[in-house]
Amino acid sequence: MTNALYSELFGVHSGQKSPFIFSPDGTIVTYEDFIKLGSRYAHVLNRLGLVPGDRLLVQIEKSPQALALYAACIQTGIIFLPLNPAYAAEELTYFVKDSEPSLVVCDANSPLVHDSHADLLDARVETLNQNGSGSLTAETKGMPSRYQTVARSSDDLVALLYTSGTTGRPKGAMLTQENLLSNAHVLKKLWAFESSDVLLHALPIFHSHGLFVATNVTLLSGGLLIFLPKFDREEIIKYIPMATAMMGVPTFYTRLLNSPDLTKELTRNMRLFVSGSAPLLAETHKQFEQRTGHSILERYGLTETSMNTSNPYSGERRPGTVGFPLPGIEVKITDTWTGQKVSPGEIGQIEIRGPNVCKGYWRRPNQTAKEFQPDGFFITGDLGKVDSDGFLHIEGRNKDLIISGGYNVYPKEIELFLDRQPGVLESVVIGVPHSDFGEAVVGLLVPNKNANPDLSAITSAASVFLARYKHPKKLLVVKALPRNTMGKVQKNVLRAEYNKLFN
Ligand code: AMP
Repeated sequence: MTNALYSELFGVHSGQKSPFIFSPDGTIVTYEDFIKLGSRYAHVLNRLGLVPGDRLLVQIEKSPQALALYAACIQTGIIFLPLNPAYAAEELTYFVKDSEPSLVVCDANSPLVHDSHADLLDARVETLNQNGSGSLTAETKGMPSRYQTVARSSDDLVALLYTSGTTGRPKGAMLTQENLLSNAHVLKKLWAFESSDVLLHALPIFHSHGLFVATNVTLLSGGLLIFLPKFDREEIIKYIPMATAMMGVPTFYTRLLNSPDLTKELTRNMRLFVSGSAPLLAETHKQFEQRTGHSILERYGLTETSMNTSNPYSGERRPGTVGFPLPGIEVKITDTWTGQKVSPGEIGQIEIRGPNVCKGYWRRPNQTAKEFQPDGFFITGDLGKVDSDGFLHIEGRNKDLIISGGYNVYPKEIELFLDRQPGVLESVVIGVPHSDFGEAVVGLLVPNKNANPDLSAITSAASVFLARYKHPKKLLVVKALPRNTMGKVQKNVLRAEYNKLFN
């Protein structure tokens, strides 16, 4: 037995002097140095008593060292559990209790180091700061730069990634060697990544998008990462001419469009812009293409499955859709109540089957049984439809479905209508309690700069374009929409805020 994930992502590059990570402070880490660093961390983890299958919970800022810790976990068979640095100490208590890590690694400024959190005391705490310093790095001094990679099978766990928890408590998705490796291979091939690629990496590395999609594809192809700590528009503009590809969330693109520096000339060297993790407005897609000549490639994935579908690399990339199933992955649209396949073009729940689907939720057999079906299909919780050309359209989350007066209302359909109205930059539609209808449709509109959308004109237009039961009972203008770090609109926050609008 070998350790396929380690050998294919890292092992193949050992001794390679080509650059792997470029940081904005000008430092470059070569593949060779990166692998040595990972191996030193691997020795440290073992010395601290961690063995294969143990969990390493990391809550640290993005850095090459943080990524080397990911490599160390794969090499040692320790399960990597990265968390958003924004989580507060109280929230961490939940993750620590749920995952029972053998070691917690955090920033030296973390409250975990300074405050006494009784619930966390069971786990040992070491530090790793954004500049690479900290107690964990100090322990690597004198450690050998070679490590005997631990054998793992395709079914062994590599990472526990907690879902973002916009609907209920976060659950730990158990991702295996096969899940990650199969997805990396498929994406590398489909998106044509080569060792000559330079990927502009401004995503966080505690989430599937930045950690697996962006990083694993680059590792597999032997390319270079321009590793930015976070999205900063001016920094992106500065580095675009040196890059060939970028992966981002929709807000990256809307923010870039607000810069006069975004031009065809600036993006001349780029061959690919990818968007995902939240819906990209068709309008953003079009504007970006007009401005730069590049058609953004939108894809669809989840923490539990990594990537499922993608618009094509060669061929039409259809705005407002997430493309076709990836090779080896099946997509099925089913009726929410009966579980039977719906007719082509109808909206239903999206189910996924393939080597990318994770093993289930950590220590949640009931939830796992509910969402991971015996025939191998995983119920994503997303609603979608496949158009006559086979493109998948995401129509919102199952939990966001509004039932008004007994009718199903799919928010996405109304959002698309509202987005088209004059003066509207973007919109979101939620259902709020209503004594008569059960739930009432409410539309929240974010206006374009200096615009003042005419709400009564929009209401009149609704009567032409939408069936009566879909008409928003109320339209409200808001400055901005609450979003999480991955750019997802937090509908749960809005539903709580407008809960009493009608009652
Ligand atoms: P996460 O587990 O944080 O990656 O969130 C996964 C969810 O993000 C999916 O279930 C979708 O609701 C949403 N999502 C991901 N990619 C897209 C996309 N391209 N368009 C619309 N929604 C998306």
